[in-house]
Amino acid sequence: MNPRAADARLPVAVGPPDVATPATHCTRRAVYPLTSPRATFSGSIRSYEGKRIMTAERTTVGVVGLGAMGLGMATTLAGKGFSVNGFDLSDARRVLAADGGVTPVASLAEVFFDTDFIVFSLPTAKDVAAVVEANLEALKEAGRRVVIIDTSTSEPDVSRDLAAALAGLGHGFIDAPVSGGPAGAANGKLTMMIGGSDQDVALAGPVIDAMSAKALHVGPSGAGNVAKLVNNLLAAAHMVTTGEGLKLALAAGLDAEEALKVLNAASGKSMISEVHFPTWVTNGRFDSGFTMGLMRKDVRLASELAARTGAELPLASAVAKLWAESPLDNAEDFTRMGAFRPVANDN
Ligand code: NAD
Repeated sequence: MNPRAADARLPVAVGPPDVATPATHCTRRAVYPLTSPRATFSGSIRSYEGKRIMTAERTTVGVVGLGAMGLGMATTLAGKGFSVNGFDLSDARRVLAADGGVTPVASLAEVFFDTDFIVFSLPTAKDVAAVVEANLEALKEAGRRVVIIDTSTSEPDVSRDLAAALAGLGHGFIDAPVSGGPAGAANGKLTMMIGGSDQDVALAGPVIDAMSAKALHVGPSGAGNVAKLVNNLLAAAHMVTTGEGLKLALAAGLDAEEALKVLNAASGKSMISEVHFPTWVTNGRFDSGFTMGLMRKDVRLASELAARTGAELPLASAVAKLWAESPLDNAEDFTRMGAFRPVANDN
């Protein structure tokens, strides 16, 4: 059997019209010295204030975590001319990566060996810290600047600590969480929100460009994680409020599809109503590739951030409670939280 068909997490070619907008650099500070159109980028590394020039046509990028997102990122990079070494704890994911032009490696150490850029796509901040920790010795002896581009939805404090620790060893760590789902990862059109030093963001520019349609450098280390948690808190809220809006429409005798058309032509619209509902909710597919467990993690992290910073968010607290207490299993697709038809959570 085709292994792709056997793995439900494989980014499917179908998907919404890509949620990310076309190639633009909306960096808060214009740190990418854009010297060539993104579409024609061939893998050579641009300079940062003349300090470093790499000309490798086949720059090696390591990718750690080849799940729903990481696999698409790895194959996108391979498709754009990078030499990509991919590692995942799962043999099946490494097999899928090999199908997509990635060199699957059998250990983390092989990813850290002779690589200038390492992309992480791991479930949690704990995983990210553990992978860095396990490879500190290799990093100490690297003899070159390694920049880690962490696309996981992680925690700002963890990113800041890792960036500080790695800076002490002469390496870079960028928090670069993403939006756009498995489809965006597979077609290189993610939206990235980036925290890190200007130097590291500029160095990693070609890798970031290859994976994203839009990259926003929003501030120093940890800022990308904060932006992502704010974004996903709103996405989680929109999933619930849009479902509730459609429930109300149905209860009041209005066809849900008609109600959705109105929302998407008026001020009730969000990306969740415009993309997620028609693609994954109203048709009962519920297979966006983003799990309940991961969204629960994001909502919990946003709530913890609110508690730590003293931000009072009464509506967000109610949303967090709904996500935490939903009977849906962590393995279910997160779009199930939008189910609005009166038959037991099923559209
Ligand atoms: P996933 O569970 O599909 O993939 C994670 C992969 O990491 C798994 O294949 C797992 O085997 C691997 N892994 C775990 N620990 C590892 C380790 N120590 N070394 C190597 N591999 C390891 O998750 P995903 O959906 O791809 O999400 C990855 C990250 O991206 C998460 O932080 C998630 O919140 C974020 N994210 C996901 C989406 C989405 O739509 N799926 C969108 C935006 C952001």
